Amino acid sequence: MTYVIEQRIMSGLPNYSLTTVKYVIAHESGNAKNNGPNALENELAFMNRNKANAFTSHWVGDGGKIVQVAPVNKLQYGCGPKGNPLSYAQVELARTADKEQFKKDYAAYIWLLRKLAKDAGIPIVLDGSGNGIKSHRWITNNLGGTTHVDPYAYLASMGITEAQFKRDIQNGLNEEGLTVDQYNELKKEIKTLQGLIAEKANLQSESEVASSHKEAWEWAIKEGIIKGDGKSMNPTGALTRQQMATMLKRYHDKFNK
Ligand SMILES: [Zn+2]
Repeated sequence: MTYVIEQRIMSGLPNYSLTTVKYVIAHESGNAKNNGPNALENELAFMNRNKANAFTSHWVGDGGKIVQVAPVNKLQYGCGPKGNPLSYAQVELARTADKEQFKKDYAAYIWLLRKLAKDAGIPIVLDGSGNGIKSHRWITNNLGGTTHVDPYAYLASMGITEAQFKRDIQNGLNEEGLTVDQYNELKKEIKTLQGLIAEKANLQSESEVASSHKEAWEWAIKEGIIKGDGKSMNPTGALTRQQMATMLKRYHDKFNK
């Protein structure tokens, strides 16, 4: 799954370089009152009005939509004066009260955080010891200059534990998934292969009759002692007592009556 990053870069942003590229920051809006169907658009409008004080590079919401509102690799005002100059990108997650929508938002959030870390050339690890993806909470606890502790509590309220969030950042979410077309193509290939394997099995069962038994084998089929269509008859398979009894009776009925 690949997402489109909608470009809605805000005008009149401050233009400062980073000191160095160390982090990509994971936020969530923290706005419990804005979790309805227009949550993302409300957040975008609010950020645009307040960009002189606070802004990030990206927003995620509205069922897996990604909007970029500020350039990456430039100073953003998202996680305080200690973290901001080290942060290549900062990603905000708009809230929703709808658990199904959350799943889509979360998948896009994970995808975007991983992509931005790759773009920045930093490890795809959440809240580890070195460079990497950092929660706003990690910046508060390790660098200071800010007091927010998002996004863990909101994720937990939607059933995503810290451990899960870390695993999902590390592994990604089904990024190698198949499209419906690829799936159907694969199904067709498997059917063809199954056909080829069955054909091969038939050829093998015929060629498996050893030359010293071939005359007897063909005689037994011709006389109806062994029955079958001549294919898949498994000449080297084990004979059960009941099959033996049937074959003896066929012999008796044919030749001793
Ligand atoms: Zn934050």
